[in-house]
Amino acid sequence: MFINMDKITIDGLEVFAKHGVFPEENILGQKFVISVIMYTDTRKAGITDELEYSVNYGEVSHFIKDFVEGHTFKLIEKVAEELAQAILLKFDLLEKADVKISKPWAPIGLPVNNVSVEISRSWHKAYIALGSNMGDKKAFLDMAVKKLDEHQLCKVIKVADYICTEPYGGVEQDMFINSALELKTLLTPDELLTLLHEIEAAADRKREIHWGPRTLDLDILFYDNSIIDTEDLQVPHSDIQNRDFVLIPMAQLAPFLRHPVLNITIKQMLEKLGDR
Ligand code: ATP
Ligand code: CA
Ligand code: CA
Repeated sequence: MFINMDKITIDGLEVFAKHGVFPEENILGQKFVISVIMYTDTRKAGITDELEYSVNYGEVSHFIKDFVEGHTFKLIEKVAEELAQAILLKFDLLEKADVKISKPWAPIGLPVNNVSVEISRSWHKAYIALGSNMGDKKAFLDMAVKKLDEHQLCKVIKVADYICTEPYGGVEQDMFINSALELKTLLTPDELLTLLHEIEAAADRKREIHWGPRTLDLDILFYDNSIIDTEDLQVPHSDIQNRDFVLIPMAQLAPFLRHPVLNITIKQMLEKLGDR
């Protein structure tokens, strides 16, 4: 998602905390050593010499200490996961964080230097298609935008204008309202699909006829530059290039976004479709 890969590193921060599978670890505590690599664009701070344009590593270090001391988890995997998420949510300028949690005194009864878990987590950019042709169509789309924006791990960046379109796929039914939105998210593609299904269910979506009438349909159009081809999920969505009700809203959000498989932009797909 990010072009720039400048890094700010906090290396070997020692924190005394109580994570562990054994009850005595949760009572006595032990040393944890934490390293975090933060990916952010430091160019502006580098030019201006002003801290407000960068991430304050002192502040992050204290945040890490408070976070790791303030919780008790069994696994260092969980410590790493929760800490990476908390850092990305708290410090706006960060795109990505690599978090390493070491446990030099891990109770394994063998002479070992250190055990550690290292993970990499980042914000992702997804585009979601929205559609409705039953009931209060506009209210269903509004509800979907609101629910996505309210989710802790998602932020709606832009929403395209709602457009009124003819039904697609040959089933006789009412007109549609369609739109698309840009989403910043910490969810994986599978988790995002599950969330979309939950929001559809909250709109009382029933899966009856394929391409038939629905209160709310939410599809993942793109997820970063990812290409996903599993039974439950294909990304980019497999029919983008044939649907003006997807391409028109997308052209408003990201005309120069390039389809990672077809290797043409949204604008070019829309032009091709118009020529047909
Ligand atoms: P279409 O996907 O052609 O627009 P539809 O939206 O009417 O058709 P649904 O009944 O809403 O189809 O979804 C059927 C299944 O499609 C979902 O349960 C989901 O597993 C799968 N699916 C595959 N790729 C995607 C995607 N990119 N976004 C949403 N669902 C997807
Ligand atoms: Ca659909
Ligand atoms: Ca769908």
